[in-house]
Amino acid sequence: MYPIYLDNHSTTKVDPRVLDSMIPWFSENYGNPSSRSHQHGWKAEEAVEQARTHVASLIKAKPSEIIFTSGATESNNFVLKGISRSIVTTKIEHKSILSTCSWIKSISNRNINYIDVDNCGKININLSNFLTLIKPYDLVSIMMANNEVGTINNIDFLNKFPSILIHSDMAQSLGKIPIDIKSLGVNFASFSAHKIYGPKGVGALYIDENVSHLLSPLIHGGGQEQGIRSGTLNVPSIVGFGKACEILETEQDSENSYIFDLRNKLEKMLLDSIPGSIVHGALGLERLPGNINISLPCKDINSFMAYVSDKVSLSLGSACMSNSGKSHVLSAMGISDEEILRSIRIGIGRFNTEEEINEAAKAIIWALEMSNK
Ligand code: PMP
Repeated sequence: MYPIYLDNHSTTKVDPRVLDSMIPWFSENYGNPSSRSHQHGWKAEEAVEQARTHVASLIKAKPSEIIFTSGATESNNFVLKGISRSIVTTKIEHKSILSTCSWIKSISNRNINYIDVDNCGKININLSNFLTLIKPYDLVSIMMANNEVGTINNIDFLNKFPSILIHSDMAQSLGKIPIDIKSLGVNFASFSAHKIYGPKGVGALYIDENVSHLLSPLIHGGGQEQGIRSGTLNVPSIVGFGKACEILETEQDSENSYIFDLRNKLEKMLLDSIPGSIVHGALGLERLPGNINISLPCKDINSFMAYVSDKVSLSLGSACMSNSGKSHVLSAMGISDEEILRSIRIGIGRFNTEEEINEAAKAIIWALEMSNK
């Protein structure tokens, strides 16, 4: 049973059904989908197009609006670098947004502004202060759900302003929040397969067909993916990503309520047994179902991690922390440095059981007692 995996925001186990769907594309069906002159190529192309249909269907987009990338980092880079407009983003984005923005700033005179968040990680923007923060023709990039504290932000009000372009990093949202991309009014969105029980190194970028002409290609070559992202397609991984989306189409609602119940159970056990512990982020359904970001009354967090790691795999703050080693997300939420350095991130997923949650609670409480001795 040990160590129990509770780091599902970082990555997830490949679902056996996904793995099964991938294997033939490594062995007997190894054609290149760009080979248009024979059956091996045609078969591979058909498999890629089927996967594209599953990804598109999960977010209610057209298959032609999905291009495959290596993951959300690449998709985020694509939009920020491929559209030369002033950027408005938030202080709690993933590093693949924030570092790209810093780089853009260092080589160009594009304006970049950062929206503040409140102490739950909710963006401080509404219709009344919108026009002071966002100018017509800006590129606005706001994540839908945060990877550290799980807070879900409503981004649909942005679509009232047609002249702006809207991008959203949805790496943590896919499969956890129902996404109707057209009604959200988002023009670009980034996704990653390994957050939804698919393989690592594959993801997608949604490109609204009405604005696709505004995005410059980043990777030039053989013209794959509508000439936007050249390079031979990673067929087995794309097939796996498609399968992961197909599974979620029928299972995401029941899966999320199962995970939400486990999360509430674990959170209650920790808060009841550990006086002085504090949960960060939004409450209830405004937070990703499997997320608990909690500060523990630790004397020494490194000693706690040394004890707990034999029994539970969880993350210290975030696996994608800022260079200072201190979570930029908790900092932006106004959490004190002392509490930030005592925070851990738990991510419950599809394969966790109730028994594991009970054992994990005991292990965390035990590790805290041992490290505080
Ligand atoms: N954005 C968010 C919100 C994420 O959580 C992650 C993964 N940590 C990424 C982007 C990067 O995704 P990938 O690993 O697919 O590059």
